[in-house]
Amino acid sequence: MRILIVEDEPELASFIRQGLQEEHYAVDVAYDGEEGLFLTQLNEYDLVILDILLPKKDGLTMLGELRQAGRLTPVLLLTAKDSLEDKVRGLDYGADDYLTKPFAFAELLARLRALLRRGAQPEPRLLQVANLSLDLITHRVRRSGREINLTGKEYEVLEYFMRHPHRVITRTELSEHVWAGDFDSFSNLIDVFIYRLRQKIDKGASVKLLHTIRGVGYVLQDEDPPIPDVPDV
Ligand code: CA
Repeated sequence: MRILIVEDEPELASFIRQGLQEEHYAVDVAYDGEEGLFLTQLNEYDLVILDILLPKKDGLTMLGELRQAGRLTPVLLLTAKDSLEDKVRGLDYGADDYLTKPFAFAELLARLRALLRRGAQPEPRLLQVANLSLDLITHRVRRSGREINLTGKEYEVLEYFMRHPHRVITRTELSEHVWAGDFDSFSNLIDVFIYRLRQKIDKGASVKLLHTIRGVGYVLQDEDPPIPDVPDV
């Protein structure tokens, strides 16, 4: 899940960024409304955390332009003052929820999870594909009951696959949603990474789950992929 923070107070922005990264989200930060809007045109975000008082372009103007451009990305507004007028205007402009500063990080996290759930199917605590399961709260991953130890990044990648089973995920999409675009999607780093992840989840299993679709990307499913599978990278 990739999140954009638009917040001009550097300390608050890095506090939120760090907290979200610890929760395995991919995070970008913009420090003014123009940069924020630019990044939403450039990247596909799953959620935007948007401050109202911002330099260059204020949060509500940015939000209005985002919606005019047809982007339905959930937006959580941060308001400095507990002003009813701000909240009403924010909701009018198409915000999905708001949070008044100062706030506890746990509350931000709870609001954000609720927004990410909304629109998607009601989210169970456990994601399951065949006999592979991923617990979204404890971050535990199991295959046939056997626990699999993953690094934080491997967990993020696997979560993304498990949210989109039976769908071919391109390298570009993975790079965008999990590495916040830091990886060149043509580099073989992603292939190497997937190879290691596959070793962990498919090793010793009679049915392979993580398949490579040559020249396209990867798919997580318990049947053979539509296009002949290729050997590991
Ligand atoms: Ca501000």
